[in-house]
Amino acid sequence: MDEKNSVLVIDDEKSNLLYLNHILSPEYNIMMANDAKKGIEMAIAHNPDLILLDILMPEMDGYETLALLKKTDETSNIPVIFITGLDSREDEEIGLVSGAEDYITKPFSATIVNIRVRNQIKIINQMRAIQRLSTIDQLTEIANKRSFNSQLSMEWRRAARNKAPISVLMIDVDKFKNYNDRHGHLQGDIALKTVAMVLKEALKRPADFAARWGGEEFAILLPSTDMEGALTIAEQTRENVEKTTIPRIDGKTSRVTISIGVNTQIPSQNDSMDDFIYNADMALYTAKNTGRNRVCRAT
Ligand code: GH3
Ligand code: MG
Ligand code: MG
Repeated sequence: MDEKNSVLVIDDEKSNLLYLNHILSPEYNIMMANDAKKGIEMAIAHNPDLILLDILMPEMDGYETLALLKKTDETSNIPVIFITGLDSREDEEIGLVSGAEDYITKPFSATIVNIRVRNQIKIINQMRAIQRLSTIDQLTEIANKRSFNSQLSMEWRRAARNKAPISVLMIDVDKFKNYNDRHGHLQGDIALKTVAMVLKEALKRPADFAARWGGEEFAILLPSTDMEGALTIAEQTRENVEKTTIPRIDGKTSRVTISIGVNTQIPSQNDSMDDFIYNADMALYTAKNTGRNRVCRAT
């Protein structure tokens, strides 16, 4: 079952917190804060899906809190619903103009709270589903090329700033056309899924990133990794794939091998990411031409 969505309620009035908790806790994981400062800290620490925010609070009011949440990287995308005793049309206008997604007036109806919260949660969940679909490869369920490219440009800039090396492995399954011809396309799909899983398991650091580049090609990005480190991981990955038995529908097993081209660079201002990838591709080409099931480094 899916995990529950989470809602953070920020209100200085304890009875409001308790009542909202009572209304919402059957459907959501509820966090509560009785002042803005605590609320912002909790939002940063726990990244709730939605925030219900009171306006009239001592010390910091809801407008100021919202402005701070929007300015803070960790919280800027969390939708906020004002829930407040300020019940004039002008108040509501001010609340919505200041960036809240919705506005509920006190004394509130449990039904209205439930529906408006559900609407925001629905939007958030739909957005995440779309995001998932646009960044994850459907067959292998690892990142797709689009996702790899945005990761690469982020890590490339970071590496340039830190004058740190960044490495890439370009990977291609050997003689995969033969594999398909022998075992059938469906079995080919199972093999690709298996390879993707093995590649993912080879990654050691949180910033390491594996993606399906397309067809039977994959790519792995290794930030803060020099050529020696990248070659070690590439060789390990190649061996892991070679050792892996791929289950077959008839109960027998099969194997595939991969060839890998490795490139490393400490990027500077004018260096091009395209060249970086191209040179890894050239190394992969060399690996293919010198016998396959091997790792070659870019020259
Ligand atoms: P090489 O060692 O030179 O890479 O030989 P190869 O046969 O792997 O290379 P080629 O590019 O000729 O063929 C790639 C094959 O991969 C052909 C294509 O049908 C297969 N392929 C690509 N995408 C998929 C997929 O999603 N599923 C399956 N089952 N096969 C795929
Ligand atoms: Mg191939
Ligand atoms: Mg290919």
